Amino acid sequence: MKKLDQFLRRELDVLGRQNLVWKSRVLETASVPRAMVDGKEVLILCSNNYLGLTNHPKLKDRAIEAIEKFGVGAGSVRIIIGNMRLHEQLDSKITEYKRTESSLHFPTGFAANAGSIPQLAGEGDVIISDELNHGSIIDGVRLSKAERRVFKHRDTNDLARVMEEIESKGFKRRLIITDGVFSMDGDIAPLPGILKEAEKYGGIIYVDDAHGDGVLGENGRGIASHFNMEGRVDIEMGTFSKAFGNIGGYVTGGRELSEYIFNKARTHLLSASIPPATVASCIAAMEVVDEEPEIIQSLWKNTKYFKEGLKERGFDTGKSTTPITPVMLGESGLANQFSEALLEKGILALPIVYPVVAKDKARIRTIMSATHTLEDLDFALRIFEEVGRSLKVTQ
Ligand code: PMP
Repeated sequence: MKKLDQFLRRELDVLGRQNLVWKSRVLETASVPRAMVDGKEVLILCSNNYLGLTNHPKLKDRAIEAIEKFGVGAGSVRIIIGNMRLHEQLDSKITEYKRTESSLHFPTGFAANAGSIPQLAGEGDVIISDELNHGSIIDGVRLSKAERRVFKHRDTNDLARVMEEIESKGFKRRLIITDGVFSMDGDIAPLPGILKEAEKYGGIIYVDDAHGDGVLGENGRGIASHFNMEGRVDIEMGTFSKAFGNIGGYVTGGRELSEYIFNKARTHLLSASIPPATVASCIAAMEVVDEEPEIIQSLWKNTKYFKEGLKERGFDTGKSTTPITPVMLGESGLANQFSEALLEKGILALPIVYPVVAKDKARIRTIMSATHTLEDLDFALRIFEEVGRSLKVTQ
């Protein structure tokens, strides 16, 4: 074995002993609500495909049409020769859908955060971040030359304390960043309270709406719409990889935002633009949620039913109020065991362990889809009950 491989094997063995090695499942069919995984048909309870749009006929037709017309790749970064009319249309559609003034899309949501945040706050500025923000925000913050402060999760009193503390320090910009819906816990950021503190102390608000788009607010317009605060969030970031059933990220906000980020964000400047098929189907996804809002209603109906069912059976679902419902288990070994037992009985719901969450906060993260039937949910609840009892998580 090469020296590097010997080193890597030793490190992997350490992770293995700590139950921290990810086991990636192999999917052979569409991703919700049932799929062939590793040769077995299972009910999927962990896909971000909230609305089942990965297989929506309109999205597929638009993608095929775009491939026929333009081919499979865009050929370059946008600033060179990778900027098609479709890319421009996607930016405009985001602006129209989110009711903002300008938008810029990226190859992924991760790229949107990692590329934009360092450009929005730099030397002489400060970033104030919720302690449970997504890793792509954390990496964006790490790439920035701004100073950093963290406030307690969803705690606006603690945010006020931090803002107070930094007031006299002479920072030029104070960028407050929060997830809209927290991806591991399914709870929602207290946006009105955050806005109040931002206004009081002259802060700029950046919200990651990855799990709010297509889920919260009027026809899935996201967290700002949910709180009737459209136009009051400085920067909204989102992704097409969740409810919109696709891939790609974006930032949207005031008139100058997109032009500035277009010229500055390195994940945009130095990364090829997304393929025409993807662009076309992202545009179609935003059309579909306006044309068929009943899909979002089904998602919420399922969410309510499943969440209440879990609670009635004695599971701790944390503070979730969205289709992301964690089943809190504590120890990573137990979470892995729980997930394996679910899979044996025909359910795929994956364990989430350190370093994605704290060491003692391992969980099974379930995610609802509009495509689940009532029978699917009753089946899932019955299996959770059986596994919960057999592993002594519930009585
Ligand atoms: N932000 C949040 C809150 C997320 O959950 C994710 C996806 N894991 C991202 C950003 C990154 O999005 P993408 O998958 O499009 O890179």
